Amino acid sequence: MKRTDYNGELRLQDVGRKVSLVGWVDNKRDLGSIEFIDLRDNTGIVQLTAGDSSKIPDVRSEYVVAVVGTVHKKAVPNPKIPTGEVEVLIDALTIVNKSENPPFIIADKTDALEDTRLEYRYLDLRRPCMLEKLRTRAKIVKITHDYLDRNRFLEVETPILNLATPEGARDYIVPSRLHHGSFYALPQSPQLFKQLLMIGGIERYYQVARCFRDEDLRADRQPEFTQIDCEMSFMSQDEILTLAEGLLARYFKEILKVDIALPLRRLDYWEGMDQYGSDKPDTRYGLFLQDLFEVLSEKTSFQGFAGARYIKGLVLPGYAAKTSRKELDDLQLEARKFNLKGILSLKFLNGALEGSFAKFLGPDVQSALVKTLGLKEGDLLLFASSSYRRDIDFGLGALRIRYAREMGLIQPNTYDLLWVVNFPMFDKVEGSKDQYTAEHHPFTRPRDEDLPLLDTDPEKVLAYAYDIVINGYEAGGGTLRIYDHDTQWKIFRILGLSEEQVAKKFGWFIDAFKYGVPPHGGFAFGLDRLAMILTGTDNIRDVEAFPKNLQAVDPMSHAPAGVSPEALEAVGIEIKKE
Ligand code: ASP
Repeated sequence: MKRTDYNGELRLQDVGRKVSLVGWVDNKRDLGSIEFIDLRDNTGIVQLTAGDSSKIPDVRSEYVVAVVGTVHKKAVPNPKIPTGEVEVLIDALTIVNKSENPPFIIADKTDALEDTRLEYRYLDLRRPCMLEKLRTRAKIVKITHDYLDRNRFLEVETPILNLATPEGARDYIVPSRLHHGSFYALPQSPQLFKQLLMIGGIERYYQVARCFRDEDLRADRQPEFTQIDCEMSFMSQDEILTLAEGLLARYFKEILKVDIALPLRRLDYWEGMDQYGSDKPDTRYGLFLQDLFEVLSEKTSFQGFAGARYIKGLVLPGYAAKTSRKELDDLQLEARKFNLKGILSLKFLNGALEGSFAKFLGPDVQSALVKTLGLKEGDLLLFASSSYRRDIDFGLGALRIRYAREMGLIQPNTYDLLWVVNFPMFDKVEGSKDQYTAEHHPFTRPRDEDLPLLDTDPEKVLAYAYDIVINGYEAGGGTLRIYDHDTQWKIFRILGLSEEQVAKKFGWFIDAFKYGVPPHGGFAFGLDRLAMILTGTDNIRDVEAFPKNLQAVDPMSHAPAGVSPEALEAVGIEIKKE
């Protein structure tokens, strides 16, 4: 029997046609002698009707069936489904395959536990909402291929088995059978190879690239994920951002029919940290952090501010009465996660500041505080101090997000895209005198105007580095790369890498820089994150067909698993007994 039509595509104009359909029994309703079957395929559902149910075999949910019948106009249309104006009167129905009772109902709305859904992922994927998410993901890839191809990019694959990439996460490693004691690392990104492609004269490279990072998992992080990875030669940062945002705008237009105004705005890293307490600020709402150093430092008898270089606060409008003692106590735990000593609070009630901290403030300081913050009746002020700028910013930034959610400040279906630019080149190791790590990777190019600072004040050096931030998600980012030998070595020295260490770690890569390197730079978008944003989910597992759970386990295959003693022997590995 040859399928003539897809179930979800039948419409009034098909009335009278004889059709052959296949699919899964989504639902069956027995009304005495008449039987109704909803038949599902990957286009949707159409209702089948058996005038005389005794003439067709007994079917159950999730049976695979083949049907021959005639399309009829329904007397009472079902407006809930696109095929709701028609039904197919069954001439013959064949059971192609039976099904056991599934562990959960195959429908968009489900109360099945996520681990059950992952254990039976092949059933979970039958839910139309899951199929839709995979479709959107595929569409992003298709748009990417079209756009980059039009813009003269060449798709090139880079190795999965090679050496470590300096992206800052832990590597997944693979033992070598032929060289016992040696390991490949799975790529954290194609970074080094895409730069070598530029040295190789490719000029414009892209790849829909699998990346692997052994990190603690979160709602938006999986051990393996996909990047839309690009690298370009002879282009300025502006040209790269313009090209990248053109691609982003296409995704929104073609997938959501949303017009994104270009060029996207660019926010300085430190400005974002100051105002939003984040390097990936959700800019859909205000609720800005406020600097209170001037107003409070050395103006209170409070001992807790001793040694603090930063005092900042967050005003929650109308929250004085809504916040319980317990909630304020719980915030202290939150604070500790960000190395803050605590979160102080003041309520502005009946025209005066209330709270245990108020006694440390004289009347002048109180009114200066009220004025600086523009406090209104019923406002709650949360504030903290720290000697590290990022601690206080990230700490209060986390509170900002939490309360914005609680206050319902986030409009659904709104999108705010921006570039965060001018990232610092280095991150100073807290408490150290002059120990630095690279904020991105050691090949990121410092801004030309900051090059002299490399010798005097590396902490102040900003880089040609940019992240694309959408609704508070870091959806991608990139940098221009160093292409001259002297700057590269200066950076290595600041990072405390000796010649030996460099030679050992990436000598093979740095060697290539002797042979005429073009100025180059690039970016990578996180395909999974983009798919999350464009499908409106905050769970990365919803946009991957076969993801791992938060313990990095696949509940279906139970990977990872032990291997046989022979397999271990072959790669020269012995497992230590605990
Ligand atoms: N390799 C970088 C990353 O994975 C992206 C880039 O700089 O192009 O974040």
